[in-house]
Amino acid sequence: MSFPRPGWTVLTCLVCERTFPIHNSEVRKGRKYCSRSCWRKRPIKRNPRPRTITANGYVSVYAPDHPTADRQGRVLEHRLVWERAHGLLPEDWDVHHKDGDKTNNALENLEAMPKSEHTSLHVADRRYTRQELIDNLREVAAKNGGRISHKAFKRLSPITHTPYFRVWGTWKKAVFEILGKEAYYKKSPAKPKYTRNQLVKHLRDLTRTLGRAPTIDEMNNSGFCSYQPYAREWGSWSEAKRVILGEDSVYKAGRKRVS
Ligand SMILES: [Zn+2]
Ligand SMILES: [Zn+2]
Repeated sequence: MSFPRPGWTVLTCLVCERTFPIHNSEVRKGRKYCSRSCWRKRPIKRNPRPRTITANGYVSVYAPDHPTADRQGRVLEHRLVWERAHGLLPEDWDVHHKDGDKTNNALENLEAMPKSEHTSLHVADRRYTRQELIDNLREVAAKNGGRISHKAFKRLSPITHTPYFRVWGTWKKAVFEILGKEAYYKKSPAKPKYTRNQLVKHLRDLTRTLGRAPTIDEMNNSGFCSYQPYAREWGSWSEAKRVILGEDSVYKAGRKRVS
């Protein structure tokens, strides 16, 4: 029989370099490999982005020369960080994030252990009941002044936040449902824009200009700041005036005396 048969072609596999017969319709579809196993080994495009987050929430970095880099040239950052300090990980070992945050790849947050041990460690997370998680979050928030951020939780909680994700889906949902939305914040409150000294000076200047202590409206229209930074700093607007200008200023400011 003549070879190739009509309608068939002989191609050279791009992976194993063996020749193989292939029907022309397959050639038109773009098939270039002799078998599924060669197709799986096909060279693929590298992904040189320095840092990406994987679908599982890990940080992936481009390190094409690393011995365990995948075909895109990528390595999980937490493994790389650990290996830089301790040498290559044994096969079937994992690197665990002690605080439960998969993106916190500081060396002191990482611990290498056999895969089996790592799995059972995370099974332990699953042992917390919903009520235990609620109680723990309430306790931790109480230590933090009744409000809680992710960062503060990580600092204060004896257990990781991972089981909260499992039960409530997201950290925010967990806090909203357990403590209410007032308890949720993302980072520490912003630093005040005005220093105490600036506030004192401005209130004194304005008082001198007016010849008496300003009202709330006058402070709001003073062009420097509203009465709010005073209320924040001294507890209330009246208290700020009392402290900065003296006891009398509070009543002289236009508030009617009840007789
Ligand atoms: Zn092949
Ligand atoms: Zn882990």
